[in-house]
Order: sequence, then structure tokens, then C-alpha cells
Amino acid sequence: MNAATAQIELRGRQVGFEVRRSKRRRSIGLLIDERGLRVAAPPSASELAIENLLREHAAWVLRKLDEWQLQQRSTLHGQNGEQIACCGEWLTISCDDAVDKPQRSGDRLLVGPSALKPEAVRRRITSWLKMEAITLFKQRCEVFSNRLGLPAPQVRLSSARTRWGSCARDADGGRIRINWRLIQTPLPWIDYVAAHEVAHLRQMNHSPAFWRVVDELVGDHRPLRAALRRDAGTYLRL
Ligand SMILES: [Zn+2]
Repeated sequence: MNAATAQIELRGRQVGFEVRRSKRRRSIGLLIDERGLRVAAPPSASELAIENLLREHAAWVLRKLDEWQLQQRSTLHGQNGEQIACCGEWLTISCDDAVDKPQRSGDRLLVGPSALKPEAVRRRITSWLKMEAITLFKQRCEVFSNRLGLPAPQVRLSSARTRWGSCARDADGGRIRINWRLIQTPLPWIDYVAAHEVAHLRQMNHSPAFWRVVDELVGDHRPLRAALRRDAGTYLRL
């Protein structure tokens, strides 16, 4: 068995792949795993046959590669040049000796001196994301509670792996907890979760009346809820 790398253009995109030839293979097979796109082929398969198969399955290959890239991006190693998401925007992690604590600069997140170990970089990134999270979540919950004519609720971060938010109400008012990992997702999704929890201050249930309050705050909640459900796993990995 031997392996070689090759390139192909699929729908205007350059895609690199590895070809492994093996006498045990009877037909050409495509596989996308943690190493990227790989083709397993019998020794007799021509390059043209491989390229034709890739073209035929271009849609599948590109979709799988996108999923794979998103997955790569959501595992945080703490390395220079790595990407993290904040409000759905991708920021490149950069070490910069002139910076002593994390700060955003355009599409980069400057984390600190280049001597930092990956574990320290990871810690700095998560604490920066948590700070961004609490600031934004408080602000969004306040906007929504204002709109409903309610006093601003107390907002805290949670790190539950199974839910985005929760809401409780007592004599002192409302208490909302929102998962800090939500800060990675696009603003409309953050707004959906904030509005959902604030709407519970009116309706402590999931009745049609409750959903009307949510829709009053964010428009039709259904596409937002569906998008969040679909991609939650990716963002919850961090
Ligand atoms: Zn709810």
C-alpha cells in the first residue's frame, strides 16, 4: 500500500486529498476523517477515474469537508493562528509580546506574550469569552425585559453542557442563567435564548402564550431554535 497527495478543483474550490492504493480494494472509496479527504483505490484505478468519482460526489465531499473544518475549529488547542468564534465571527488567535491580557483587534484576538504555553492560552481565551458573554447577555436580557416593561433580571453564566439557559423567579425578581458557550454563536441565536428566558418572567411555561411573547421579542423564533439545535453540538465542544 502506498499514499500520495493530490489536488482537485471542485466547484471552484481547491481540495487536497490523499490517495491510498491497496491490492485489497476492488473499487474506489471516499473517506473524510480527522486527517481530511482520503481516497482508497485499487492499484489499477486511473487518476481520471478517481477525479471523476470526486466530481460526481462534489456536493457530498464539500459538505463533509465543511463539517470537518468546523469541527477542527471548535476544538481549542491554544495555538497561535487557531480560530475561535465570538458572536458567530471567527477570530484568529495571535500571540503578541506587546499585549499582557487578551484583547480584540479587528478579526484577531491578541492573547498575550508568545512565551505562553498552550494551556495558558486556552485559559485566557475561555476567560475572555466568559467576560464577553456576561457583558452581552446582561445587555440583551435588559433590552428584552425593558421591552416587556419588566425590571432587569439578574443574569449569571452557567456551564451546563445540556442546556443553553434557565430562568427562575422569586420575590427578588427574575434570575436568568445562560451558558457562556453561547457567546460563540451568531447574535440572533444569543437573542433567541435571552428572549426565551426573559419571556419566562411573564410565562413560566411553554404555552402558546409564552411563544407569542418570544416572537414579540425576536420575530419568528422557529428558525432560530432549529439552527441552534442543529449546531449546538459544535459550539458546546469548547
Ligand atoms: Zn423555556
